[in-house]
Amino acid sequence: MRKPGTDENNVQMTDVVCDFCRSEWTDERPMVEGHRGSTICGKCLATAYMSVVLNDDNTAPTGFTCTLCLEQRDDAGWQSPAHDEAVVCRRCIKQSAGVLHKSDEYNWSKPIG
Ligand SMILES: [Zn+2]
Ligand SMILES: [Zn+2]
Repeated sequence: MRKPGTDENNVQMTDVVCDFCRSEWTDERPMVEGHRGSTICGKCLATAYMSVVLNDDNTAPTGFTCTLCLEQRDDAGWQSPAHDEAVVCRRCIKQSAGVLHKSDEYNWSKPIG
């Protein structure tokens, strides 16, 4: 997400915060963008991946709307422990993990069991 008051024509890294933990985007903290400026950081993504993909958990409320793809989903998902309204679906977790895993910009790899 963007901080309130962000100039959309001149978005700085520090204007971008993770929807799930509200940490700022830094060189050390990779971010993946979803729709409408939604973002998930590498740390939250790793937690979500471990929970939903590796452990087959589902912490999302039934019929949730995914923060990243903005779709109402009936698959599993991960709800931010800090911010209830931030939920990411299994599909977006896998997709985002794939993007970050392949990116040369960041030293992020998919968690392994
Ligand atoms: Zn985060
Ligand atoms: Zn999604």
